[in-house]
Amino acid sequence: MATINSNFLKLKAGYLFPEIGRRVKAYTESAPDKAAQIIRCGIGDVTEPLPSSVREAMHKGVDEQGDRETFHGYGPEQGYEFLRTAIVENQFADLGISADEVFISDGSKCDTGNILDIFGKGNTIAITDPVYPVYVDTNVMAGNTGDADEKGAYEGLLYMPCTAENGFVADVPTEKADLIYLCFPNNPTGAVATRAQLEAWVKYAKENNAIILFDAAYEAFIQDPEIPHSIYEIEGAKDCAIEFRSFSKNGGFTGVRCAYTIIPKQLTGKADDGSDVSLHQLWSRRHSTKFNGASYPVQVAAAAVFSEEGKKQVSDLITHYMGNAKLLREACQTLGLDVFGGENAPYVWVACPEGTTSWEMFDKMLHEAQVVITPGSGFGSAGEGYFRISAFNSRENVIEVCERLKTALTPVSA
Ligand SMILES: *Cc1c(COP(=O)(O)O)cnc(C)c1O
Repeated sequence: MATINSNFLKLKAGYLFPEIGRRVKAYTESAPDKAAQIIRCGIGDVTEPLPSSVREAMHKGVDEQGDRETFHGYGPEQGYEFLRTAIVENQFADLGISADEVFISDGSKCDTGNILDIFGKGNTIAITDPVYPVYVDTNVMAGNTGDADEKGAYEGLLYMPCTAENGFVADVPTEKADLIYLCFPNNPTGAVATRAQLEAWVKYAKENNAIILFDAAYEAFIQDPEIPHSIYEIEGAKDCAIEFRSFSKNGGFTGVRCAYTIIPKQLTGKADDGSDVSLHQLWSRRHSTKFNGASYPVQVAAAAVFSEEGKKQVSDLITHYMGNAKLLREACQTLGLDVFGGENAPYVWVACPEGTTSWEMFDKMLHEAQVVITPGSGFGSAGEGYFRISAFNSRENVIEVCERLKTALTPVSA
């Protein structure tokens, strides 16, 4: 009899987005005339087409595959040198990261989940609340937690509440943690960490021999020149941090799939016998055993993000989405709601009106405005009382959403 990984049974039934899908489906079945009006501001997927420079490069990559002379079979598991070099030159110049510390993959979701392969059992895992659900669920699958309580919090995880009081940037814990997940700019709250806040985290990690897993999927959305884009801008981070980046949100690669993970060569973890082992070597072994490289045309396309034309086109995409975020922020503020995020991130994080839960707000927005938002509680219990609006949309849709927000949420005056 084949047994299963029973840790999967600890996972809560509804991963957030399937539950949203169920509610939207139930609504459209009960009100089919409204179905066409629904505007989705829920899931964190880009909406605008791939930049032309990226498409042209991908076409070229595909054509090369059609000629014996330029055909590429299996590539290096770690990714093509041309892409790793372009990444380092364009994003980590002066930060002391070398091209062989970059691992190309088919996505940051996979990387942030798979990274647990190289870490041992018994680590104390620090996770923010609210959080990108992938970090939690992959730890549950890996057996790093106990069961969930009625609020959905897993036994054994060290939750770090992110609230309006701390500006949605977790304070360094008083307890000792071994693995720390940080995501800045943050999904879902849109919060960013200042240099001083990241310095405190690096100091904490070094003092505790902990590893920071830094998810920088949204770094391209940072507008404030004082906010660091990379954890490696902080001195000492190369001794204690792994950074995850993706082409999904800047280049619009959510359907193309390309990302990368930086593991500095000096980074180590403890083996059972107490010796220090290179995490770079372990990840290299893991990556080349379980992964055969991202596709050649995709890596050619990703490199085009760093061409002159590509940079300009990506910058235009960011300007578009951040313009959306500004409109959404203003619309919510005009309604007297407390609004966070949306200034250095494509997510606007809004406090529900007094006495309304996140899911009540979700249902209200769906039924009264035909707008799909994401309930904050789906990202963790500290997200209760908030909702997330994504700025990934057309301008036309965002303007319409702003109008509908006003109609649905303006209090009926006495
Ligand atoms: C979108 C997103 C990613 C990127 O995931 P891919 O698998 O590269 O598309 C990573 N982290 C967070 C928090 C995200 O929201």
